[in-house]
Formats: sequence, structure tokens, C-alpha cells
Amino acid sequence: MKFLCVLCVLCGSGFFAAAIDREAFTLTKYDLEIRLEPEQQRLGARGKITLRNDSAQPQKVAVLQISSSLDWRSIRVDGKAVQFITQPYVSDIDHTGALSQAIVTLPAEIKPKGSVEVEVGYEGTIPQDATRLTRAGVPEEIAKHTSWDQISASFTAVRGAGYVAWYPIATESANFSEGELFQVADRWKAREAESEFKARLSVTTDSGERLPTLECAGGHTAYEAISRAQAVSAECSWKPLGTVTPMFVGANYIDHSKPPIFLLFSLAGHEAGAATYSVSFEPASKFVTEWFGKPTAAVTITDFADPHAAPYESGTLLLTSMVADDAELAAINLVHELTHAAFSSPRPWVHEGLAHFAEAVFREKQKGRQAALVLLGIHRAAFLEPEKEVVRSPQKNSGQPLATTFDETYYRSKAAYVWWMLRDVIGEAALKQAIGKYRAEDDNSPKYVEQLVEAAAKRDLGWFFDDWVYRDRGLPDFRVQSVHPWKNEKGVQIVTVTLENLGSAGAEVPFTVRCEGGEVTRRIEVRAKTTATTRVEVPGTPTEIVVNDGSVPESDMTNNTFKISAP
Ligand SMILES: [Zn+2]
Repeated sequence: MKFLCVLCVLCGSGFFAAAIDREAFTLTKYDLEIRLEPEQQRLGARGKITLRNDSAQPQKVAVLQISSSLDWRSIRVDGKAVQFITQPYVSDIDHTGALSQAIVTLPAEIKPKGSVEVEVGYEGTIPQDATRLTRAGVPEEIAKHTSWDQISASFTAVRGAGYVAWYPIATESANFSEGELFQVADRWKAREAESEFKARLSVTTDSGERLPTLECAGGHTAYEAISRAQAVSAECSWKPLGTVTPMFVGANYIDHSKPPIFLLFSLAGHEAGAATYSVSFEPASKFVTEWFGKPTAAVTITDFADPHAAPYESGTLLLTSMVADDAELAAINLVHELTHAAFSSPRPWVHEGLAHFAEAVFREKQKGRQAALVLLGIHRAAFLEPEKEVVRSPQKNSGQPLATTFDETYYRSKAAYVWWMLRDVIGEAALKQAIGKYRAEDDNSPKYVEQLVEAAAKRDLGWFFDDWVYRDRGLPDFRVQSVHPWKNEKGVQIVTVTLENLGSAGAEVPFTVRCEGGEVTRRIEVRAKTTATTRVEVPGTPTEIVVNDGSVPESDMTNNTFKISAP
């Protein structure tokens, strides 16, 4: 300690700040009261948070951060005010590009794994702010549709950590343009996954004024008449938080809800868009029930004031524009949220992966397999480049195993494909059976899902889970190595096909032999860096072989067609 003090004198407070481990503490519990004043764009908060020391050293100093447009008012431990200094901290984890950082001197050292409860008070405004994007060179016109968070009289929507620190966080600085933001935000999510979060939000107005509808997933909304004033409140609560980023929404909405399961709110003029959701609810709900059981939680769909705003999901609350009446989009949005309402898992790749998979299966049911593969193809584009990088520079260790990742690209997009491939491999009935047997409370080992799937399929799929879930080996890359058409003694046309997988992940892949008078599709398992050969009986002279219909994500789809020249 003496050594530290000497250095403090030598270097000033700069050393003090640099020596702090900002990520030493995990915030394991939030219990907050949030007062909103939409006319003033204001937010006032007080409540309790629990900090657990997850570092290996005892900690006397804790760092707490909120959005730079908010100010710390009080920090207390055991009912007594504690010393803290506040300073701005540049970080793109908040939309303003900076945080209000409190460096708190705790009354006593907190040992590793020890916890301390801290009472906090803070307030300020949350206007729309796209600084972190415009600073990185994103044109303002585009940035505002992404960075839409704000409290305002006409429309309020505020996402949590990673967008707006409306509740305290503890993170290292994240620079958007240097790509650190996603690492820091994902690390924060992973640290908070087991945490408990409760925030009671309220808006009070004088009687006569119209109260907004206030929504927040994971809790309930209540309207209260207090003497001469009116209040509306909503509670966000999660236990555990999982991958959810707490968000609240408030506006003068038109209520189209069918409680208790379906809550639907549109802005005036968007009634036709809202109607597409009402019409799509029954078929979506029926479909989800067949796969995942009856939805037990409420899904909430709320409208955006900005028709070009990027949609966002928080738990079972989806914020999406209803300006257009797009029935197909409404249906798959509902399928996604209803899947969450019916099925829940602490594993991000299971929880989100299955919801995105359900969207594709629903699309297939309505429009056919090709339409479903087009929907999945949008996901492939998201993880294609990072997966190529895994193979290009394995020494960088940039892989993200599905089993442990908190990166959305993987636990949403890649996971959707993994579930789709599993259905193709083991069949719909077996996969439904495995999902039906899943219990979140029993999911204590990474192998639990594999065991359920194998029990339902009655086969060993260890290699598949190893290549796709437990490790990130990159993607397969299939090509037709050789084709040999021949006729047997009965004159039946046969083709011997050898497929090669140049990639480092194996898969069971479909291939189609096109011939005069038709085509035949078969499936074949081709492990990483190997070949597999099979014979196919075809109705005529073969002309072409196409491997992979798009259902297996591949690093290179340009080498998948093989023309068979006439002998
Ligand atoms: Zn989701």
C-alpha cells in the first residue's frame, strides 16, 4: 500500500485510475426504483445493487459506471455515505460514447468471492444520441435509425448495457471502431448471465394528462390512481438475466392486446400493421405449441416511432416498426417470441438458436424448404467471415464454441443452422422428442443436450457436437471429387459419387444427381478433411451433381456443382 501511495504522489491520480481493475466486480443483483419524466427526458434512480469480487485479489475500490448523460447523486454502504470520486470515462459501450464513472472507496476490503451491497442514487436525462457511431464515421442519417434510444414525451425506448447504461455497470473501455466494443459487451453479458435484475419503472403525471403505456419484458405493468395524480408503473425482472438486455418502452400506444399471453401496442396510423400481428397470432401459437409446448409467459410486441429503426428484442419484448403490414414478417416475429414464451434455456445457443430455428421451420411450413433456406442464408452471411478467419489463422484462437459463446452472431445465426442440421440428420419427430424432454433445471452439463438428442435419435452424434457445439473448427467445404456413371447387369443406371470435405468441420450433407428424366437427392456424412463414396440409382443418364442445398453452412459454395460430360 505504501508503494502505491508513493506512486500516487509521483504520477498523480492518473496512476490510481490506471491501476483499478474495472472488471473485478460482477453486479450479481439489482433492485432499482426508476422514476421517468418523459416531458423533461429525465430519469431518476435509486436502489440497491450487490457487487461480488470475481477477481483473485481483495478489492478496496469498486468502479461503477452509468451513461455520461446521468450523474451520480449518492453511494452508500451499510446506511453510510462512502467516499467516491466521479469522472467521465470514454467508452463506446454507451450511446453517448462515454460513461459517468464513480470510483468508490469501500469501507472494508472485499475478499475474492465476497460480496457487498451498495445503495445508489443517480439521475439525469436520456436524449437520443448517436455520438459513438458518428465518431466512428457512420453518417448521422443512418446512425439515428440504429441509435434510437431516448426518453421523450412522444416516444421512449431505452436498451441497457451495450446501448445505454441506465443501470450501473463495471467495464473496461470499449472502442467501437477498433472492434473492442463487442468483446467488452459480450464479456459483460457473460459475467451478468447468472445475475438477478429487478427494476420498477414509473411515470407520474398530474390528473388530466394522458399516461403513456409503459412496457418492460419479464414483469408486469400496473396502472394506479393516486390522489390527484396518476401513475403508471412497469416492472422488469429476470432471475437469472441470461442474455437479456433489460429495456423499457413507453408511448401513447393503442392497445390491441389479447391478454394474458399476447400484448400488442401500435402507434396511431399503424393499425393495419398491428392487425397483421393479430391475424398471425393463432397460427404462430399453434405451430410453437407443437414444437415447444404451450407458451406460458406473455409476449409483447411494441411499435416504433421511427419507421426505419432497427428492431430489437429484450426477453419476450420485441420492438419493431408496424408502419408496413408485412404478414410474413409478423408471423416469424411472433414465432420467435412465442418460442421464448414456451421454452427457456440458460444456454444462449439453445435459447436463441431454437427461436431462430423455429422461424425457419415455420417459413418452410408456409413457403417450402427453399424459402426457409433463404431465411437461413441471411444468418450464414453473418458468421461466414469470422468462421473463415478461424481456419485462416488458427493460432489467433478466434473461434467461438457455441457451447460457451456470448456473441450473438454465433448463438443466434450459427446456432439456428446447427438445430436445422440436427433436424435433417435425426428427423423432426426425434428432435421434437428431445426438445420435449429438455428441462432447464437439469441442464447442468454441456453434454446434456447431446444426450437428449442421442437418446431420441438412438445414435451417436458425438462427432457432430464436437465439430459444431463444443469447439469452433470453422465450416465445412464440400466438393464433388469424382463421379462414375455405370450400368449394372440388369441395365439399371447407377452413379458412384465421391464427395470431399476440404473444411475442418464434418456434416451430413444432401446432394442431388440430376439426370435425363428427373433427379435423385440423397444424404451423406462427410467428416472433416475426408472423402465419402456412395452409389445412387438414377432414372436416366446423369448430367450434373449438386452438393449441399444450402442447409449446411459452408465456407465456399462456388465449388458445389459438378457437370458430368457425356461418355
Ligand atoms: Zn430471441
